[in-house]
Amino acid sequence: MIAGFEPLDVLQGLVMLMRQRVEGRAEVENEYYRIVRPEGNRRALEILYRVFEPADTEWRGLGVIPNSGLRLRPEYARFDAAVRLPVEREPLKVHRGCICGDILRGAKRPDECPLFGKACDPEHPIGPCMVSSEGTCAAYFRYGPPKRSATARPERSVHAAG
Ligand code: SF4
Repeated sequence: MIAGFEPLDVLQGLVMLMRQRVEGRAEVENEYYRIVRPEGNRRALEILYRVFEPADTEWRGLGVIPNSGLRLRPEYARFDAAVRLPVEREPLKVHRGCICGDILRGAKRPDECPLFGKACDPEHPIGPCMVSSEGTCAAYFRYGPPKRSATARPERSVHAAG
């Protein structure tokens, strides 16, 4: 959902999300149409692609996606830190049980990961989704539905007198 920052934009964005949920849709929708246009900011794009070109890029939890990122064009290599200061990087290792990729694609919820809240939490992150506070698993851990436990108080029930 693309939404603006004004309170009415946020509310309208939430309404549109709820409508998708009720109608069983999962689509990119644009609430912020007065600023965000399908063709983008032509002038900014022109400058951007003069300096950068598409490149295969590795994304946390998703792996390498062809042409999903940008790198400086060869004529700007003198400004490219990766060219000037090459660093050997070990490939990212992801724990076998981590389902971050499925979560980022919206195919699974964080609490469907068997490690969530047990071996993996914000203090001891195992996968990339738990590392930073805006990570999907970290946010779900902090703000998701309350975790039930055997010692949790049962919900109060109301019995009709009679
Ligand atoms: S809870 Fe941890 S291990 Fe599981 S998907 Fe999230 S980051 Fe990966």
